[in-house]
Amino acid sequence: MTFSVQGQAVSRGVAIGRAVLVASSRLDVAHYFVAPEQVESELQRLSDARARVIAELQRTQQVLLKTEAREAHQELNALLDVHLMLLEDKQLQEGVSYWVVERHYNAEWALTSHLEQIAKQFDEMEDPYLRERKADLEQLTERMLRQLRGVESPVTGAAPAAGRDEPLVLIAHDLSPADMLQFKQSVFAGFVTDVGGKTSHTAIVARSMDIPAVVGARSASQLVQQDDWVIIDGDAGILIVNPSETVRLEYEFRQREITLLRGRLSHIKNTPAVTLDGERVELLANIEQPADTVPALSVSAVGVGLFRTEFLFMGREGKLPDEEEQYQAYRTAVEGMHGLPVTIRTVDVGADKPLDSRSRDDHLNPALGRRAIRWSLAEPAMFLTQLRAILRAAVHGKINLLFPLVAHRHEILQIKDMVARARQQLDLRGDVHGPVRLGAMIEVPAAAMTVPMFLRHFDFLSIGTNDLIQFTLAIDRVDESVSHLYDPLHPAILQLVASTIAECRAQGKSVSVCGEMAGDPAMTRLLLGLGLRSFSMHPSQILAVKQQILRADTRKLRAWAQEVVGSENPSAHMAGSTI
Ligand code: PEP
Ligand code: MG
Repeated sequence: MTFSVQGQAVSRGVAIGRAVLVASSRLDVAHYFVAPEQVESELQRLSDARARVIAELQRTQQVLLKTEAREAHQELNALLDVHLMLLEDKQLQEGVSYWVVERHYNAEWALTSHLEQIAKQFDEMEDPYLRERKADLEQLTERMLRQLRGVESPVTGAAPAAGRDEPLVLIAHDLSPADMLQFKQSVFAGFVTDVGGKTSHTAIVARSMDIPAVVGARSASQLVQQDDWVIIDGDAGILIVNPSETVRLEYEFRQREITLLRGRLSHIKNTPAVTLDGERVELLANIEQPADTVPALSVSAVGVGLFRTEFLFMGREGKLPDEEEQYQAYRTAVEGMHGLPVTIRTVDVGADKPLDSRSRDDHLNPALGRRAIRWSLAEPAMFLTQLRAILRAAVHGKINLLFPLVAHRHEILQIKDMVARARQQLDLRGDVHGPVRLGAMIEVPAAAMTVPMFLRHFDFLSIGTNDLIQFTLAIDRVDESVSHLYDPLHPAILQLVASTIAECRAQGKSVSVCGEMAGDPAMTRLLLGLGLRSFSMHPSQILAVKQQILRADTRKLRAWAQEVVGSENPSAHMAGSTI
Protein backbone atom coordinates (compact mmCIF):
# COMPACT_ATOMS: atom_id res chain seq x y z
CA MET A 1 0.00 0.00 0.00
CA THR A 2 1.34 3.42 -0.95
CA PHE A 3 1.29 6.18 1.64
CA SER A 4 3.33 9.20 2.57
CA VAL A 5 4.48 10.77 5.81
CA GLN A 6 5.14 14.48 6.20
CA GLY A 7 8.15 15.63 8.18
CA GLN A 8 10.71 18.44 8.21
CA ALA A 9 12.88 18.95 5.14
CA VAL A 10 16.43 19.10 6.45
CA SER A 11 18.74 17.92 3.75
CA ARG A 12 17.93 18.35 0.12
CA GLY A 13 17.71 15.88 -2.70
CA VAL A 14 15.96 12.64 -3.44
CA ALA A 15 16.82 9.18 -2.15
CA ILE A 16 15.11 6.04 -3.37
CA GLY A 17 15.86 2.81 -1.59
CA ARG A 18 14.90 -0.02 0.69
CA ALA A 19 13.97 0.86 4.26
CA VAL A 20 16.31 -0.27 7.01
CA LEU A 21 14.64 0.11 10.38
CA VAL A 22 17.00 0.51 13.27
CA ALA A 23 15.90 0.72 16.88
CA SER A 24 17.54 3.60 18.75
CA SER A 25 19.07 1.15 21.20
CA ARG A 26 20.80 -0.72 18.40
CA LEU A 27 22.36 2.15 16.54
CA ASP A 28 25.83 1.24 17.69
CA VAL A 29 25.62 -2.12 15.93
CA ALA A 30 27.96 -2.25 12.93
CA HIS A 31 26.23 -1.87 9.57
CA TYR A 32 28.18 -2.93 6.52
CA PHE A 33 27.93 -5.17 3.51
CA VAL A 34 29.88 -8.38 3.17
CA ALA A 35 31.25 -9.42 -0.19
CA PRO A 36 29.48 -12.42 -1.84
CA GLU A 37 32.44 -14.70 -1.12
CA GLN A 38 32.22 -13.79 2.58
CA VAL A 39 28.57 -14.73 3.00
CA GLU A 40 29.41 -18.26 4.13
CA SER A 41 31.85 -17.12 6.81
CA GLU A 42 29.36 -14.52 8.04
CA LEU A 43 26.72 -17.25 8.40
CA GLN A 44 29.29 -19.28 10.28
CA ARG A 45 29.77 -16.37 12.70
CA LEU A 46 26.05 -16.42 13.38
CA SER A 47 26.02 -20.13 13.90
CA ASP A 48 29.06 -19.96 16.24
CA ALA A 49 27.46 -17.21 18.26
CA ARG A 50 24.24 -19.23 18.46
CA ALA A 51 26.12 -22.28 19.69
CA ARG A 52 27.83 -20.21 22.36
CA VAL A 53 24.53 -18.73 23.57
CA ILE A 54 22.98 -22.21 23.73
CA ALA A 55 25.96 -23.44 25.79
CA GLU A 56 25.71 -20.39 28.03
CA LEU A 57 22.00 -20.96 28.69
CA GLN A 58 22.47 -24.67 29.33
CA ARG A 59 25.25 -23.91 31.81
CA THR A 60 22.92 -21.54 33.66
CA GLN A 61 20.21 -24.18 33.76
CA GLN A 62 22.62 -26.72 35.23
CA VAL A 63 23.69 -24.29 37.91
CA LEU A 64 20.04 -23.69 38.76
CA LEU A 65 19.36 -27.39 39.02
CA LYS A 66 22.17 -27.80 41.52
CA THR A 67 21.09 -24.98 43.77
CA GLU A 68 19.10 -25.75 46.86
CA ALA A 69 16.36 -23.32 45.99
CA ARG A 70 15.52 -25.25 42.83
CA GLU A 71 11.82 -24.67 43.29
CA ALA A 72 12.21 -20.94 43.49
CA HIS A 73 14.05 -20.97 40.18
CA GLN A 74 11.39 -22.84 38.30
CA GLU A 75 10.15 -19.76 36.57
CA LEU A 76 13.61 -18.75 35.47
CA ASN A 77 14.24 -22.25 34.24
CA ALA A 78 11.09 -22.16 32.16
CA LEU A 79 12.19 -18.87 30.68
CA LEU A 80 15.53 -20.32 29.71
CA ASP A 81 13.64 -23.17 28.03
CA VAL A 82 11.73 -20.64 25.98
CA HIS A 83 14.99 -18.97 24.99
CA LEU A 84 16.53 -22.28 24.00
CA MET A 85 13.44 -23.10 21.96
CA LEU A 86 13.67 -19.79 20.15
CA LEU A 87 17.32 -20.45 19.39
CA GLU A 88 16.43 -23.81 17.84
CA ASP A 89 13.62 -22.33 15.78
CA LYS A 90 14.44 -22.98 12.13
CA GLN A 91 12.20 -20.19 10.85
CA LEU A 92 13.99 -17.65 13.00
CA GLN A 93 17.37 -18.88 11.85
CA GLU A 94 16.32 -18.74 8.22
CA GLY A 95 14.87 -15.28 8.78
CA VAL A 96 18.21 -13.96 10.00
CA SER A 97 20.18 -15.79 7.31
CA TYR A 98 18.01 -14.21 4.64
CA TRP A 99 19.54 -10.77 5.32
CA VAL A 100 23.06 -12.14 5.00
CA VAL A 101 22.46 -14.31 1.94
CA GLU A 102 20.13 -12.08 -0.03
CA ARG A 103 21.11 -8.63 1.14
CA HIS A 104 24.73 -9.23 2.14
CA TYR A 105 24.30 -7.57 5.54
CA ASN A 106 26.91 -8.34 8.18
CA ALA A 107 25.79 -10.72 10.96
CA GLU A 108 24.94 -8.08 13.59
CA TRP A 109 22.94 -6.03 11.14
CA ALA A 110 21.09 -9.13 9.86
CA LEU A 111 20.21 -10.09 13.41
CA THR A 112 18.84 -6.70 14.40
CA SER A 113 17.02 -6.26 11.08
CA HIS A 114 15.17 -9.49 11.59
CA LEU A 115 14.41 -8.63 15.19
CA GLU A 116 12.92 -5.30 14.10
CA GLN A 117 10.71 -7.08 11.63
CA ILE A 118 9.31 -9.62 14.04
CA ALA A 119 9.10 -7.18 16.93
CA LYS A 120 6.46 -5.36 14.89
CA GLN A 121 4.48 -8.53 14.41
CA PHE A 122 4.59 -9.16 18.17
CA ASP A 123 3.38 -5.62 18.86
CA GLU A 124 0.29 -6.29 16.80
CA MET A 125 -0.64 -9.49 18.66
CA GLU A 126 -3.78 -9.55 20.78
CA ASP A 127 -2.55 -12.19 23.21
CA PRO A 128 -0.60 -10.49 26.02
CA TYR A 129 1.44 -13.67 26.68
CA LEU A 130 2.65 -13.76 23.09
CA ARG A 131 3.22 -10.01 23.07
CA GLU A 132 5.59 -10.46 26.00
CA ARG A 133 7.67 -12.94 24.00
CA LYS A 134 9.07 -9.90 22.23
CA ALA A 135 11.10 -9.18 25.34
CA ASP A 136 12.55 -12.69 25.17
CA LEU A 137 13.61 -12.15 21.62
CA GLU A 138 15.21 -8.86 22.53
CA GLN A 139 17.16 -10.47 25.35
CA LEU A 140 18.30 -13.23 23.06
CA THR A 141 19.40 -10.74 20.43
CA GLU A 142 21.45 -8.96 23.11
CA ARG A 143 23.11 -12.26 24.03
CA MET A 144 23.83 -13.04 20.39
CA LEU A 145 25.29 -9.56 19.82
CA ARG A 146 27.53 -10.01 22.85
CA GLN A 147 28.78 -13.32 21.53
CA LEU A 148 29.28 -11.91 18.04
CA ARG A 149 31.58 -9.30 19.50
CA GLY A 150 33.74 -12.20 20.63
CA VAL A 151 33.63 -13.89 17.23
CA GLU A 152 35.81 -11.63 15.10
CA SER A 153 34.44 -10.89 11.69
CA PRO A 154 36.70 -12.28 8.98
CA VAL A 155 35.58 -9.29 6.92
CA THR A 156 38.38 -6.79 7.11
CA GLY A 157 36.47 -3.79 5.86
CA ALA A 158 33.03 -2.93 4.66
CA ALA A 159 32.41 -4.15 1.16
CA PRO A 160 31.38 -1.20 -0.95
CA ALA A 161 27.79 -1.06 -2.04
CA ALA A 162 29.12 -1.30 -5.60
CA GLY A 163 27.30 -3.79 -7.72
CA ARG A 164 24.25 -3.51 -5.51
CA ASP A 165 21.48 -1.73 -7.29
CA GLU A 166 19.34 -1.25 -4.20
CA PRO A 167 20.32 1.77 -2.12
CA LEU A 168 19.29 1.74 1.53
CA VAL A 169 17.51 4.36 3.59
CA LEU A 170 17.82 4.37 7.37
CA ILE A 171 14.62 4.88 9.37
CA ALA A 172 14.85 5.34 13.12
CA HIS A 173 12.74 6.81 15.88
CA ASP A 174 15.57 9.06 16.96
CA LEU A 175 19.20 9.55 16.07
CA SER A 176 21.54 11.55 18.25
CA PRO A 177 24.06 13.81 16.48
CA ALA A 178 26.78 11.34 17.50
CA ASP A 179 24.85 8.42 15.96
CA MET A 180 24.49 10.44 12.83
CA LEU A 181 28.19 11.08 12.69
CA GLN A 182 28.82 7.38 13.04
CA PHE A 183 26.81 6.85 9.85
CA LYS A 184 28.86 9.41 7.96
CA GLN A 185 30.84 6.85 5.98
CA SER A 186 28.03 4.34 5.94
CA VAL A 187 26.03 2.61 3.27
CA PHE A 188 22.88 4.69 3.67
CA ALA A 189 21.58 6.92 0.90
CA GLY A 190 19.18 8.83 3.15
CA PHE A 191 17.82 9.20 6.69
CA VAL A 192 14.41 9.57 8.25
CA THR A 193 13.68 10.06 11.95
CA ASP A 194 10.39 10.34 13.82
CA VAL A 195 11.58 13.20 16.00
CA GLY A 196 13.67 16.31 15.56
CA GLY A 197 13.38 19.84 14.23
CA LYS A 198 14.93 21.53 11.22
CA THR A 199 17.92 22.92 13.08
CA SER A 200 18.36 20.11 15.58
CA HIS A 201 21.97 18.97 15.56
CA THR A 202 20.96 15.64 14.06
CA ALA A 203 19.51 17.55 11.12
CA ILE A 204 22.65 19.68 10.89
CA VAL A 205 24.89 16.63 10.69
CA ALA A 206 22.59 15.07 8.08
CA ARG A 207 22.96 18.24 6.04
CA SER A 208 26.72 18.11 6.36
CA MET A 209 26.62 14.62 4.88
CA ASP A 210 24.84 16.06 1.89
CA ILE A 211 22.35 13.24 1.57
CA PRO A 212 18.56 13.58 1.63
CA ALA A 213 17.04 13.50 5.09
CA VAL A 214 13.71 14.12 6.76
CA VAL A 215 13.28 14.55 10.51
CA GLY A 216 10.14 14.94 12.60
CA ALA A 217 8.30 12.34 10.49
CA ARG A 218 6.29 11.44 13.62
CA SER A 219 5.47 7.72 13.37
CA ALA A 220 7.47 6.79 10.28
CA SER A 221 9.40 4.11 12.16
CA GLN A 222 6.11 2.51 13.19
CA LEU A 223 4.44 2.66 9.80
CA VAL A 224 7.28 1.57 7.56
CA GLN A 225 8.17 -2.11 7.36
CA GLN A 226 11.69 -3.45 7.11
CA ASP A 227 12.68 -3.62 3.42
CA ASP A 228 9.79 -1.51 2.09
CA TRP A 229 10.66 0.62 -0.90
CA VAL A 230 10.73 4.28 0.11
CA ILE A 231 11.44 7.65 -1.43
CA ILE A 232 12.81 10.54 0.60
CA ASP A 233 11.92 13.89 -0.87
CA GLY A 234 14.41 15.99 1.07
CA ASP A 235 13.17 19.25 -0.46
CA ALA A 236 9.54 18.82 0.54
CA GLY A 237 10.26 16.85 3.72
CA ILE A 238 8.15 13.90 2.61
CA LEU A 239 8.67 10.18 2.93
CA ILE A 240 6.79 8.12 0.35
CA VAL A 241 6.37 4.45 1.19
CA ASN A 242 5.88 1.76 -1.46
CA PRO A 243 5.53 4.28 -4.30
CA SER A 244 3.73 3.43 -7.51
CA GLU A 245 5.80 2.94 -10.65
CA THR A 246 4.76 6.37 -11.97
CA VAL A 247 5.80 8.19 -8.79
CA ARG A 248 9.07 6.31 -8.71
CA LEU A 249 9.88 7.21 -12.31
CA GLU A 250 9.09 10.84 -11.59
CA TYR A 251 11.48 10.90 -8.64
CA GLU A 252 14.19 9.12 -10.62
CA PHE A 253 13.87 11.92 -13.13
CA ARG A 254 14.21 14.49 -10.31
CA GLN A 255 17.33 12.70 -9.09
CA ARG A 256 18.94 13.02 -12.51
CA GLU A 257 18.00 16.71 -12.66
CA ILE A 258 19.60 17.34 -9.24
CA THR A 259 22.82 15.62 -10.34
CA LEU A 260 22.89 17.80 -13.46
CA LEU A 261 22.30 20.95 -11.42
CA ARG A 262 25.11 20.07 -9.02
CA GLY A 263 27.41 19.44 -11.94
CA ARG A 264 26.62 22.90 -13.24
CA LEU A 265 27.30 24.51 -9.85
CA SER A 266 30.71 22.88 -9.72
CA HIS A 267 31.77 25.19 -12.57
CA ILE A 268 31.84 28.16 -10.18
CA LYS A 269 34.02 26.35 -7.67
CA ASN A 270 37.10 28.40 -8.44
CA THR A 271 35.32 31.67 -9.20
CA PRO A 272 36.03 34.22 -6.44
CA ALA A 273 32.92 35.08 -4.41
CA VAL A 274 32.55 38.69 -5.53
CA THR A 275 29.26 40.49 -6.14
CA LEU A 276 28.44 42.34 -9.36
CA ASP A 277 29.51 45.62 -7.71
CA GLY A 278 32.86 44.19 -6.65
CA GLU A 279 32.18 43.36 -2.98
CA ARG A 280 34.34 40.44 -1.88
CA VAL A 281 32.53 37.87 0.28
CA GLU A 282 34.15 35.29 2.51
CA LEU A 283 32.64 31.78 2.25
CA LEU A 284 33.73 29.61 5.15
CA ALA A 285 32.98 26.02 6.12
CA ASN A 286 31.27 24.58 9.19
CA ILE A 287 32.94 21.31 10.17
CA GLU A 288 32.46 18.63 12.82
CA GLN A 289 35.65 16.63 12.44
CA PRO A 290 39.20 17.39 11.28
CA ALA A 291 38.67 15.26 8.16
CA ASP A 292 35.87 17.62 7.07
CA THR A 293 38.52 20.06 5.86
CA VAL A 294 38.73 17.90 2.71
CA PRO A 295 35.15 18.61 1.53
CA ALA A 296 35.64 22.22 2.67
CA LEU A 297 38.63 22.71 0.38
CA SER A 298 36.96 20.81 -2.43
CA VAL A 299 34.45 23.66 -2.76
CA SER A 300 37.15 26.31 -2.26
CA ALA A 301 36.10 27.45 1.23
CA VAL A 302 38.50 30.21 2.31
CA GLY A 303 38.66 28.92 5.87
CA VAL A 304 36.68 27.18 8.57
CA GLY A 305 34.16 29.52 10.19
CA LEU A 306 32.95 27.01 12.78
CA PHE A 307 34.58 23.82 14.01
CA ARG A 308 32.01 22.25 16.35
CA THR A 309 34.52 20.54 18.62
CA GLU A 310 31.86 18.86 20.76
CA PHE A 311 31.76 16.05 18.21
CA LEU A 312 35.21 15.02 19.44
CA PHE A 313 33.72 14.66 22.91
CA MET A 314 30.52 12.80 22.08
CA GLY A 315 29.76 9.07 22.19
CA ARG A 316 32.84 8.24 24.30
CA GLU A 317 30.96 6.80 27.26
CA GLY A 318 32.59 9.09 29.78
CA LYS A 319 36.18 9.01 28.51
CA LEU A 320 36.76 12.51 27.21
CA PRO A 321 39.63 13.22 24.80
CA ASP A 322 42.80 14.27 26.62
CA GLU A 323 44.95 17.27 25.70
CA GLU A 324 47.18 15.33 23.31
CA GLU A 325 44.27 13.80 21.40
CA GLN A 326 42.60 17.19 21.10
CA TYR A 327 45.84 18.90 20.09
CA GLN A 328 46.31 16.33 17.29
CA ALA A 329 42.72 16.86 16.11
CA TYR A 330 43.01 20.67 16.03
CA ARG A 331 46.43 20.50 14.45
CA THR A 332 45.11 18.15 11.75
CA ALA A 333 42.29 20.58 10.99
CA VAL A 334 44.61 23.58 10.90
CA GLU A 335 47.21 21.87 8.73
CA GLY A 336 44.41 20.46 6.57
CA MET A 337 43.41 24.04 5.67
CA HIS A 338 46.94 24.85 4.45
CA GLY A 339 47.31 28.26 6.05
CA LEU A 340 43.66 29.33 5.80
CA PRO A 341 42.10 30.40 9.12
CA VAL A 342 40.23 27.91 11.29
CA THR A 343 37.67 29.08 13.84
CA ILE A 344 37.57 26.55 16.64
CA ARG A 345 34.59 26.75 18.95
CA THR A 346 35.05 25.40 22.44
CA VAL A 347 32.89 22.47 23.38
CA ASP A 348 29.14 23.05 23.10
CA VAL A 349 27.58 19.96 24.65
CA GLY A 350 24.23 19.76 26.34
CA ALA A 351 20.62 20.06 25.17
CA ASP A 352 20.31 17.98 21.97
CA LYS A 353 24.04 17.20 22.01
CA PRO A 354 24.48 14.86 24.98
CA LEU A 355 28.02 13.65 25.59
CA ASP A 356 26.83 10.06 25.36
CA SER A 357 23.75 7.90 25.82
CA ARG A 358 24.24 7.86 29.60
CA SER A 359 24.35 11.60 29.99
CA ARG A 360 21.06 12.67 28.49
CA ASP A 361 19.89 15.76 30.32
CA ASP A 362 16.67 15.01 32.15
CA HIS A 363 16.10 18.59 33.23
CA LEU A 364 12.90 20.08 31.96
CA ASN A 365 14.58 22.61 29.70
CA PRO A 366 18.02 21.34 28.78
CA ALA A 367 18.41 23.97 26.04
CA LEU A 368 18.30 26.58 28.81
CA GLY A 369 20.43 24.56 31.19
CA ARG A 370 24.09 23.97 31.96
CA ARG A 371 25.37 23.63 28.44
CA ALA A 372 28.04 25.13 26.17
CA ILE A 373 30.18 27.80 27.91
CA ARG A 374 28.26 27.22 31.15
CA TRP A 375 29.43 23.62 31.18
CA SER A 376 33.00 24.61 30.30
CA LEU A 377 33.18 27.20 33.07
CA ALA A 378 31.72 24.72 35.54
CA GLU A 379 34.39 22.16 34.59
CA PRO A 380 37.59 24.26 34.67
CA ALA A 381 39.99 21.31 34.33
CA MET A 382 38.24 20.11 31.19
CA PHE A 383 38.03 23.66 29.81
CA LEU A 384 41.71 24.39 30.46
CA THR A 385 42.66 21.12 28.76
CA GLN A 386 40.78 22.18 25.65
CA LEU A 387 42.23 25.68 25.71
CA ARG A 388 45.80 24.39 26.05
CA ALA A 389 45.27 21.99 23.15
CA ILE A 390 43.94 24.80 20.93
CA LEU A 391 46.69 27.25 21.91
CA ARG A 392 49.33 24.62 21.11
CA ALA A 393 47.70 23.91 17.73
CA ALA A 394 47.85 27.65 16.97
CA VAL A 395 51.58 27.24 16.38
CA HIS A 396 50.71 25.39 13.18
CA GLY A 397 48.31 27.86 11.58
CA LYS A 398 45.79 30.66 12.01
CA ILE A 399 43.25 29.95 14.73
CA ASN A 400 40.26 31.98 15.85
CA LEU A 401 38.99 30.84 19.22
CA LEU A 402 35.22 31.06 19.54
CA PHE A 403 33.04 30.68 22.66
CA PRO A 404 29.41 29.49 22.51
CA LEU A 405 26.32 30.79 24.32
CA VAL A 406 27.98 33.67 26.14
CA ALA A 407 25.47 36.08 27.69
CA HIS A 408 27.03 37.70 30.78
CA ARG A 409 29.89 40.09 31.41
CA HIS A 410 31.23 37.85 34.16
CA GLU A 411 31.36 34.95 31.70
CA ILE A 412 33.40 37.08 29.31
CA LEU A 413 35.86 37.99 32.08
CA GLN A 414 36.11 34.39 33.22
CA ILE A 415 36.77 33.20 29.66
CA LYS A 416 39.61 35.69 29.23
CA ASP A 417 41.02 34.70 32.57
CA MET A 418 40.93 31.01 31.62
CA VAL A 419 42.73 31.68 28.32
CA ALA A 420 45.46 33.54 30.24
CA ARG A 421 45.70 30.67 32.75
CA ALA A 422 45.99 28.09 29.97
CA ARG A 423 48.88 30.08 28.48
CA GLN A 424 50.58 30.30 31.88
CA GLN A 425 50.27 26.53 32.34
CA LEU A 426 51.86 25.96 28.94
CA ASP A 427 54.66 28.41 29.80
CA LEU A 428 55.30 26.58 33.05
CA ARG A 429 55.53 23.31 31.15
CA GLY A 430 57.77 24.94 28.57
CA ASP A 431 55.33 24.14 25.73
CA VAL A 432 55.04 26.47 22.78
CA HIS A 433 51.72 28.12 21.96
CA GLY A 434 50.56 30.43 19.19
CA PRO A 435 48.49 33.60 18.93
CA VAL A 436 44.70 33.35 18.59
CA ARG A 437 41.95 35.88 18.00
CA LEU A 438 39.15 35.65 20.55
CA GLY A 439 35.51 35.69 19.51
CA ALA A 440 32.03 35.07 20.88
CA MET A 441 28.93 33.55 19.40
CA ILE A 442 25.95 35.86 19.37
CA GLU A 443 23.21 33.32 19.90
CA VAL A 444 21.36 34.51 22.98
CA PRO A 445 19.12 37.61 22.63
CA ALA A 446 20.88 39.12 25.67
CA ALA A 447 24.17 39.00 23.74
CA ALA A 448 22.63 40.45 20.59
CA MET A 449 21.30 43.36 22.66
CA THR A 450 24.69 44.11 24.25
CA VAL A 451 26.96 43.82 21.22
CA PRO A 452 28.99 46.96 22.12
CA MET A 453 30.06 45.28 25.38
CA PHE A 454 31.06 42.13 23.51
CA LEU A 455 33.07 44.18 21.05
CA ARG A 456 35.06 45.78 23.87
CA HIS A 457 36.30 42.33 24.87
CA PHE A 458 36.39 40.26 21.69
CA ASP A 459 38.17 40.52 18.33
CA PHE A 460 35.30 39.10 16.31
CA LEU A 461 31.70 37.88 16.61
CA SER A 462 29.84 35.05 14.97
CA ILE A 463 26.05 35.02 14.86
CA GLY A 464 24.53 31.64 15.66
CA THR A 465 21.10 32.05 14.18
CA ASN A 466 19.98 28.53 15.15
CA ASP A 467 20.04 29.26 18.85
CA LEU A 468 19.26 32.94 18.42
CA ILE A 469 15.96 31.96 16.78
CA GLN A 470 15.31 29.26 19.38
CA PHE A 471 15.73 31.67 22.28
CA THR A 472 14.18 34.78 20.75
CA LEU A 473 11.04 33.00 19.60
CA ALA A 474 10.98 30.55 22.55
CA ILE A 475 10.90 27.52 20.27
CA ASP A 476 12.78 24.36 21.08
CA ARG A 477 14.75 23.66 17.91
CA VAL A 478 14.43 19.91 18.48
CA ASP A 479 10.68 19.83 19.00
CA GLU A 480 8.88 19.05 15.76
CA SER A 481 5.53 20.08 17.23
CA VAL A 482 6.57 23.75 17.24
CA SER A 483 8.87 23.69 14.24
CA HIS A 484 6.31 25.55 12.11
CA LEU A 485 6.97 28.55 14.39
CA TYR A 486 10.71 28.45 13.75
CA ASP A 487 11.05 31.49 11.51
CA PRO A 488 14.37 33.10 10.54
CA LEU A 489 12.39 35.91 8.93
CA HIS A 490 10.55 36.95 12.08
CA PRO A 491 11.06 40.74 12.39
CA ALA A 492 12.63 40.28 15.86
CA ILE A 493 15.30 37.96 14.46
CA LEU A 494 16.05 40.22 11.53
CA GLN A 495 16.37 43.24 13.81
CA LEU A 496 18.84 41.43 16.09
CA VAL A 497 20.90 40.13 13.16
CA ALA A 498 20.84 43.51 11.40
CA SER A 499 21.89 45.49 14.48
CA THR A 500 24.70 43.05 15.32
CA ILE A 501 26.14 43.28 11.80
CA ALA A 502 25.77 47.07 11.74
CA GLU A 503 27.48 47.53 15.12
CA CYS A 504 30.43 45.33 14.13
CA ARG A 505 30.86 47.13 10.83
CA ALA A 506 30.71 50.51 12.56
CA GLN A 507 33.53 49.44 14.85
CA GLY A 508 35.56 47.76 12.10
CA LYS A 509 35.31 44.32 13.77
CA SER A 510 34.72 41.16 11.79
CA VAL A 511 31.37 39.41 12.02
CA SER A 512 30.04 36.33 10.35
CA VAL A 513 26.88 34.23 10.47
CA CYS A 514 27.49 30.54 11.13
CA GLY A 515 23.93 29.34 11.81
CA GLU A 516 21.91 27.53 9.16
CA MET A 517 20.63 30.88 7.87
CA ALA A 518 24.05 31.51 6.30
CA GLY A 519 23.78 28.36 4.19
CA ASP A 520 20.29 29.05 2.89
CA PRO A 521 20.54 30.57 -0.61
CA ALA A 522 17.11 32.18 -0.09
CA MET A 523 18.67 34.35 2.66
CA THR A 524 21.90 35.30 0.90
CA ARG A 525 20.73 38.55 -0.69
CA LEU A 526 19.08 39.75 2.49
CA LEU A 527 22.23 39.13 4.54
CA LEU A 528 24.36 40.81 1.89
CA GLY A 529 22.01 43.79 1.97
CA LEU A 530 22.45 43.98 5.74
CA GLY A 531 26.20 44.29 5.22
CA LEU A 532 27.30 40.72 5.95
CA ARG A 533 30.48 39.75 4.11
CA SER A 534 31.36 36.53 5.89
CA PHE A 535 29.16 33.43 5.71
CA SER A 536 29.95 30.08 7.31
CA MET A 537 28.04 26.94 6.34
CA HIS A 538 28.36 23.27 5.53
CA PRO A 539 30.58 22.73 2.49
CA SER A 540 27.65 21.21 0.58
CA GLN A 541 25.88 24.59 0.59
CA ILE A 542 28.78 26.82 -0.39
CA LEU A 543 28.35 26.73 -4.16
CA ALA A 544 24.60 27.42 -4.10
CA VAL A 545 25.23 30.46 -1.87
CA LYS A 546 28.11 31.59 -4.07
CA GLN A 547 25.80 31.50 -7.08
CA GLN A 548 23.54 34.02 -5.31
CA ILE A 549 26.51 36.21 -4.46
CA LEU A 550 27.76 36.29 -8.06
CA ARG A 551 24.32 37.55 -9.18
CA ALA A 552 23.92 40.16 -6.42
CA ASP A 553 24.48 43.91 -6.46
CA THR A 554 24.86 45.10 -2.87
CA ARG A 555 24.20 48.75 -3.83
CA LYS A 556 20.64 47.77 -4.75
CA LEU A 557 20.23 45.37 -1.85
CA ARG A 558 21.06 47.80 0.96
CA ALA A 559 17.86 49.88 1.01
CA TRP A 560 15.73 46.85 0.18
CA ALA A 561 17.17 44.88 3.11
CA GLN A 562 16.30 47.74 5.47
CA GLU A 563 12.74 47.72 4.13
CA VAL A 564 12.51 43.96 4.74
CA VAL A 565 13.79 44.31 8.32
CA GLY A 566 11.34 47.15 9.02
CA SER A 567 8.43 45.30 7.51
CA GLU A 568 5.65 43.71 9.53
CA ASN A 569 5.71 40.69 7.25
CA PRO A 570 9.29 40.25 5.97
CA SER A 571 8.71 37.00 4.11
CA ALA A 572 5.82 38.48 2.11
CA HIS A 573 7.94 41.58 1.45
CA MET A 574 10.77 39.43 0.13
CA ALA A 575 8.49 37.24 -1.96
CA GLY A 576 6.82 40.28 -3.48
CA SER A 577 9.96 42.21 -4.42
CA THR A 578 11.53 42.06 -7.85
CA ILE A 579 14.98 43.14 -6.78
C1 PEP B 1 23.87 28.30 16.14
O1 PEP B 1 23.30 28.20 17.22
O2 PEP B 1 23.43 28.95 15.19
C2 PEP B 1 25.15 27.61 15.90
C3 PEP B 1 25.85 27.80 14.82
O3 PEP B 1 25.55 26.72 16.85
P1 PEP B 1 24.91 25.27 17.01
O4 PEP B 1 24.01 25.03 15.82
O5 PEP B 1 26.03 24.30 17.06
O6 PEP B 1 24.16 25.38 18.28
MG1 MG C 1 24.34 27.37 18.93
